[in-house]
Amino acid sequence: METRKLCYLDNNATTRVAPEVIAAMLPFFEQHWGNASSAYSFGNQVTQHIDHAREQLAAMINADPREIIFTSCGTESTNTAIHSALLANPRKRHVITTVVEHSATLNYARTLKGQGYDVTFLPVEPDGTLDLFLLEKSIRSDTAIVSVMWANNETGVLFPIDEIAAICRSHEVAFHTDAVQVPGKLPIDVRNIGADFLSLSAHKLHAPKGIGLLHIKKQVKFHPYIIGGQQERGRRGGTENVPYIIGFGRAAELAMATLDEENIRVRKLRDRLETTILATIPKTVRNGAREPRLPNTVNLSFIGVEAEAVLLMLDRVGICASSGSACTTGSLKPSHVLTAMGLKAKLAQGAVRFSLSIYNTEADIDHALEHLPGIIQKLRGLSPVSVGKPKSPAGKS
Ligand SMILES: *Cc1c(COP(=O)(O)O)cnc(C)c1O
Repeated sequence: METRKLCYLDNNATTRVAPEVIAAMLPFFEQHWGNASSAYSFGNQVTQHIDHAREQLAAMINADPREIIFTSCGTESTNTAIHSALLANPRKRHVITTVVEHSATLNYARTLKGQGYDVTFLPVEPDGTLDLFLLEKSIRSDTAIVSVMWANNETGVLFPIDEIAAICRSHEVAFHTDAVQVPGKLPIDVRNIGADFLSLSAHKLHAPKGIGLLHIKKQVKFHPYIIGGQQERGRRGGTENVPYIIGFGRAAELAMATLDEENIRVRKLRDRLETTILATIPKTVRNGAREPRLPNTVNLSFIGVEAEAVLLMLDRVGICASSGSACTTGSLKPSHVLTAMGLKAKLAQGAVRFSLSIYNTEADIDHALEHLPGIIQKLRGLSPVSVGKPKSPAGKS
């Protein structure tokens, strides 16, 4: 069997850990493995390295390092922000979010609803954008927090997060943004945005899974979610995950250095993939607005085929892509994001997401463009839609 190079086009699901990040982490497994809270220097000397990582991350988002707490993941950060706002205003029991959020927000909001909180799930337009007039109208005197993602992980569509933050400020309502998909792709300036909370996750940024951060704007009243020791100045209990924090910090530094590459070279690769597919494979449509959009993401529907079948055939030629978010694959339920955009089930079921990173090359795009047309053609030949008669049960094994 020929050995095939992995053609990884699923960077919104997770990213390869950068070799520089691994190198930065290793000494904290091998040598400096002490507990940062210890009285002896072997342990507490790692504190200065944690502080350095916090500074690297603060620099990436233009924050004061003291505004950052480390968490176990983007999901924890998101839960923490919403939870904190609700505890800070016990009489306010209304939450506003959108129907296209990541499950980290969506399922937490649903759980709150089950606990008796009132939740407004804002709809989106057919191109995945948000009606800010409706958002503002939905704010009530008992609204504790508005939580809206910055960049959609499935379509790459960007929400005007600074405008939403300004609306929330004018109504004195807390605002959280899930910015997990943004670093390394767009510049982040928390002072400019002015959100109360902002969530990030390391594994979307060429650092390991299992480490995230929450930015909490100065002066915002904060209530911890994980309660235990005095780590993170009492704002998040649990012994610090030192190697991962160090890796996250190094990844932030790298992301700042590669921001232009992502926006010029990677964007060009994405655009070539997108325009070539749209021009050469008939009955193919892009899902979501073309702009403003993340430079690395494209979501396309191949009419008349099942995305799952496309993914299986792509996998055979070493190409990793995704249908909807990884968290919902395994079920044939069409993506909640595409459904919320009003896509008919047939279109949503044929939706495939390609998401690139700085590790992708022209050769990756060539490889995908070489195989995709044949795969779609083959599947359409098999598909009952084009044959015009229902699938016979005998055809299944
Ligand atoms: C991946 C992702 C998350 C969850 O981050 P984890 O670290 O995996 O918990 C949240 N929001 C968005 C938009 C994501 O893409």
